[in-house]
Amino acid sequence: MGCVVAAMLASYVSDLWRWLVCQAASSAMGIINLIFQAHARHTMPPLRPSFLSLYALRNAQLASRNLRRHARIFARSCSCSAPQQSQKFVNHSPTSDQNVQLNPTTSDPPTPPVDHRSVAQTHKLFITSPYSPGSPLLLPNGAYIFQKLQSFLRAQYPQFGFQEVITPTIYKKSLWERSGHWDNYAEDMFSVQGRGATGQTENAEVGQDEEFGLKPMNCPGHCLLFKDDVKNYRNLPVRYADFSALHRNEISGALTGLTRVRRFHQDDAHIFCRPDQILSEIEQTLKFVGMVYDTFGLGPYKLLLSTRPQDHFIGTIEEWNRAEQQLTSALNNSGREWAINEGDGAFYGPKIDIILKDSNGKEHQTATIQLDFQLPQRFDLQYQASPQELKEKSDTQEDLELDPAHCRPVIIHRAIYGSLERFMALLIEHYAGRYPFWLSPHPAIILSLNQDPEILHYIAQFQSVLSGLKEHTFNHSLQDQTARPTPQRLSTIHLPIDVDTSARQLGRKIADAQKKKYNHIIVIGEAEVHQGTFKVEAANQPNMQATQKALEDVLGRELQADDWKTSKTANSTIAVKMDVREVRAYFERLLDRFL
Ligand SMILES: [Zn+2]
Repeated sequence: MGCVVAAMLASYVSDLWRWLVCQAASSAMGIINLIFQAHARHTMPPLRPSFLSLYALRNAQLASRNLRRHARIFARSCSCSAPQQSQKFVNHSPTSDQNVQLNPTTSDPPTPPVDHRSVAQTHKLFITSPYSPGSPLLLPNGAYIFQKLQSFLRAQYPQFGFQEVITPTIYKKSLWERSGHWDNYAEDMFSVQGRGATGQTENAEVGQDEEFGLKPMNCPGHCLLFKDDVKNYRNLPVRYADFSALHRNEISGALTGLTRVRRFHQDDAHIFCRPDQILSEIEQTLKFVGMVYDTFGLGPYKLLLSTRPQDHFIGTIEEWNRAEQQLTSALNNSGREWAINEGDGAFYGPKIDIILKDSNGKEHQTATIQLDFQLPQRFDLQYQASPQELKEKSDTQEDLELDPAHCRPVIIHRAIYGSLERFMALLIEHYAGRYPFWLSPHPAIILSLNQDPEILHYIAQFQSVLSGLKEHTFNHSLQDQTARPTPQRLSTIHLPIDVDTSARQLGRKIADAQKKKYNHIIVIGEAEVHQGTFKVEAANQPNMQATQKALEDVLGRELQADDWKTSKTANSTIAVKMDVREVRAYFERLLDRFL
């Protein structure tokens, strides 16, 4: 009996010991992975050799496949949410009345909470396929929203001084070695081999038989562009924007809808500026972020400043202090509430994160503004210094590779949406399928009362005018098929106006259109064809008050009680009679105002 008890005890102690070792290893892995994860988030550049010892420790702890897998799931499951915030928070509020609300654009999240994957099914936005896990295939409706998000930012870039560039998807291993990704980020990258690029020739020179890597970030490519010609202090800042597809090798267990993917796009940009330009660049970027989020009615969001880590950092304390001072001034001048996350900056520079609450109250890091002193050194980026900078330059400069009359620029990595796919998921859930007209893949549908050929022809023409394919001229003639196509103006905004001319009963067609949450429903029968006016039902607009104003502007009168189909509430429907010119003018007004 004693032997049995002793054996059980020994077995228990052995199990306990194994469990403790696993827990300790798992926790250490978790911490190390969090560091790597924080680094990988968004547009961060790679780690420096000073972190190689940490990397070696990490590798040693990757010995057990299962343990590693477990630890990676643990570490990665939080990358969509706010960074770990164990540090003390200090709230800075420019005015006391902003304590309650972080920004004035708050709109109530939908209740009950919405999952973007189920909305995507109903509205046919995207699919996933086992042939390419983690790379969503966007259907026309999803592609429409995606491209609207892109073109919205594109339209803003000139006023903020950004120039769009197009860069490769794959680069040779030697570029990733220079940037540091190959040493520190290889597990998250896809390597690519091909003809003459197998990476199997031993001691191959740079350029010989190198394998390639799919890019997980745009920064190294933008550094190559910056180096293309000689820059002087007057040429800065240089601001490159890039919507390229990026690939990161997420583990399959973590892949989810549009939020955790392997292929995605960022509204990525890199600002190469002089150290004395940091303040104005950060101020401009914060204004840009505010303008974009106000347009989408997103909020509240938090601004978090992460400062110099205690131990591991590059650059001098004076450089950090100056940079942090400029970030602090920019945050103060932004007029928004912000908080400080002490010591949580990356080792290569301080950063500002924008943390947005989703419809479930969960926090997501979306926009990020990240200073980087390191990548300019790795890529030996230089500009001819100004007389003032030359005067201030210390004789005991540590950066030996720098030419005497030159300075290093600072890189600001910035993304406003972050990942477009993830931002889309947030918007889908935020709007719960009721998209604003300008972004909506379902802006309007025209329903036929019956299948009379005259009505069907009329509807086809009406659709062309409303969608922007034809001018406001409206031809009743059936002989309109011979016209030669002419190029559309680049400024023409095409709207995906749908029609339902099926033989189904009108009630069914209306119910179907309502289920798909069309912003407008227009029914056309014989009376409408002969009168030339149509009852337009406006519903499902997130901002019905502004919609009402746009309608009143076009009609030149105030809406009356009987113009409201249901009692006047946020979800009510307006139904007014208009002619074709008025409808198109009203649609253009909604587009102009981002309603
Ligand atoms: Zn970057």
